[in-house]
Amino acid sequence: MLSTLPAQPADALLALIKLYAADERADKIDLGVGVYRTGDGATPVFAAVKGAERKLLETQDSKAYLGPEGDMGFVDALKPHIFGKDFPAIDRIDGMQTPGGTGGVRVAVAMAKAAGVTRVIMGNPSWPNHAQIMKDLDLGVVTFNHARDGSVDMDALRAAIADAGPTDAILLHGCCHNPTGIDYTIEQWGEIAALLRDKDLLPILDLAYQGLGYGMDEDAQGVRLVMSTVPEALLAYSCDKNFGLYRDRVGAFYVLAADRSQLPAIMSNGATLARASWSMPPDHGAAAVRIILEDADLTRQWLGELDDMRARMRQVRDRLAAAGTAGSVDMTPYGTQSGLFAMLPLSNEQIQALRDDHAVYMAGSGRINVAGLTTGNIDKFIDAVASVSA
Ligand code: PLP
Repeated sequence: MLSTLPAQPADALLALIKLYAADERADKIDLGVGVYRTGDGATPVFAAVKGAERKLLETQDSKAYLGPEGDMGFVDALKPHIFGKDFPAIDRIDGMQTPGGTGGVRVAVAMAKAAGVTRVIMGNPSWPNHAQIMKDLDLGVVTFNHARDGSVDMDALRAAIADAGPTDAILLHGCCHNPTGIDYTIEQWGEIAALLRDKDLLPILDLAYQGLGYGMDEDAQGVRLVMSTVPEALLAYSCDKNFGLYRDRVGAFYVLAADRSQLPAIMSNGATLARASWSMPPDHGAAAVRIILEDADLTRQWLGELDDMRARMRQVRDRLAAAGTAGSVDMTPYGTQSGLFAMLPLSNEQIQALRDDHAVYMAGSGRINVAGLTTGNIDKFIDAVASVSA
């Protein structure tokens, strides 16, 4: 029976890692996989996480099951960081822990489907796993153009919302859009929030990079605006980037209900979906995050480390923008975009030439991880782009 299964396409980014590893050129540059890197090319464990893990080791006295909602101390401790200290609708919000932001997206979309959603409207391009999750859940997808000429394509978004049907939901990236780095301004978020409310369209918000763009508060402004305007919303959250916990799979899922009395029934659906998928989320990373957020010194240390990460990515972006143009590529918009990613408008042949002739490895879509650039390699990168796109 199993022999009837067709081979699935290999993950292109994982294939790229292998090609990069096999390349013997000393000056090779890896801009593929989406993890933060220091100026030395490392992805170290945050010192605040190490501190919390030490505490966890000393104090944890049981590893008995916690339940499908996971560590609710973690879920509650994150709330003021996501929603701010005096969020008006906070009593209409409840959450649960999930295995990474991916688990959060999965429960959000599955819950939307269980509530009657048949199609999800989403921008193109998007994180490829969004479309895979919709497909796996047998949901229709309607796409709109996310960006045009280096900024958000608001006309396309307005038209998509105007055309939405009664069983549609819309998926929006909260900040640091993957793969473009192109985010909505606060004014645009205000307009989007009002359009969603007027259309009664359910938002599924994906906040996977809070703190990697302009700051923890700045990066949550859009999510806060939407969730204080609409009656109902779903939010998937990842701690894997802003705490550097990638492989520990730390995420959460929050629901904004029209009335707080509805939350227990809604969240019981979240628990049922989790039971059927992963039963319970892994504990370790979320427990470390909770320990950080319950301790003022560790919280300060974590926020300082996040500031350093963000400052380094801003430096790289400033340097790209200062280059002006490289061949046919206008680098100036990268300066104001946000997060780990940017898209280079290069053809497949140009991307291949970057790899073959200059040892620059990037996704076939043209996406680069800006954190792969350092003071040591950025000039070479800009020259290489200029040479392949001249
Ligand atoms: N959402 C977006 C937009 C992402 O880019 C990612 C990860 O790349 C995720 C969600 C999921 O992150 P996690 O690793 O926490 O599952």
